[in-house]
Amino acid sequence: MKNGLVKARRVVDLSQLPELKVIERLSDGGLRVGACVSARMLELAQPVREGFTSLAESASVVGSLQIRHLATLGGNLANAAPSADMAPPLLALDAEFLIAGPRGQRRVPATDFFQGVRLTQLAADEVLVEIIIPAPGPGSGGTYVRHTPRRELDIAVVGVASQLTIAEGKCVKARIALAAVAPVPLRARQAEARLEGEAVTPALVEEAAQLAVEASRPISDQRGSAEFRRHLVRVLTRRTLTTALERASGLSAARNGAH
Ligand SMILES: Cc1cc2nc3c(=O)[nH]c(=O)nc-3n(C[C@H](O)[C@H](O)[C@H](O)COP(=O)(O)OP(=O)(O)OC[C@H]3O[C@@H](n4cnc5c(N)ncnc54)[C@H](O)[C@@H]3O)c2cc1C
Repeated sequence: MKNGLVKARRVVDLSQLPELKVIERLSDGGLRVGACVSARMLELAQPVREGFTSLAESASVVGSLQIRHLATLGGNLANAAPSADMAPPLLALDAEFLIAGPRGQRRVPATDFFQGVRLTQLAADEVLVEIIIPAPGPGSGGTYVRHTPRRELDIAVVGVASQLTIAEGKCVKARIALAAVAPVPLRARQAEARLEGEAVTPALVEEAAQLAVEASRPISDQRGSAEFRRHLVRVLTRRTLTTALERASGLSAARNGAH
């Protein structure tokens, strides 16, 4: 609309619907987040920071403080920019998106929601209502890190979210999600599979980082070459896996801990 490409007959403002502003911890430890929750609310909300750290971290790097007060989670996802910061943690946390429209409601896994650059599963008459995230459970830790040339008001050249669940010294579940290295945010499934069932050593992290590089399909643009992006995937995968492991291990002894 701003660029004059779309001439809307009506504009619908969702921002005052209380149903779309919920942040609720579910009885099973999961989380519901309404599509109109702002990045700032996500960044500060205790239930998000405590159990779903990577999502709070991703919200905390969006734009500037002013932008974070306005930018909603739903807008960030429906916008479907390949660099959207709040998407990778949701892929890594196995989130589902609740969509509503005249034909009723449906739930779509985060991995299937994105269809291409600025393309999603949303039909023109549908809205994204909320995001449902299952409990990561005890012994789980995650983080999101992105690289930008400038600290603020810049979009990710590469973003990586990792989530690991550790039990009895072995990785029982691994999730690695990448942003800005393909038309859609994607999971590095072979890297995940390499980690599962194993004790996560620095050598294994290195192998997983290499597999994540192979999963990426970056382009060269004014923000960075494909080669630079592949280098960043390796570095950020290594870094996020190391932090995820520390968080998962630190909490594995805690009774209800999840990070
Ligand atoms: C200066 C600046 C810096 C930024 N920096 C970053 C950054 O660092 N990282 C990052 O990821 N993003 C960044 N962004 C993008 C920003 O995250 C998104 O623009 C913002 O999240 C969009 O949220 P919104 O509520 O304003 O959505 P809107 O702009 O209102 O909507 C975006 C699109 O999504 C649709 N939409 C919105 N909500 C819904 C819904 N519930 N259901 C269906 N469709 C919906 C709208 O119709 C529209 O097409 C930046 C933007 C600006 C302006």
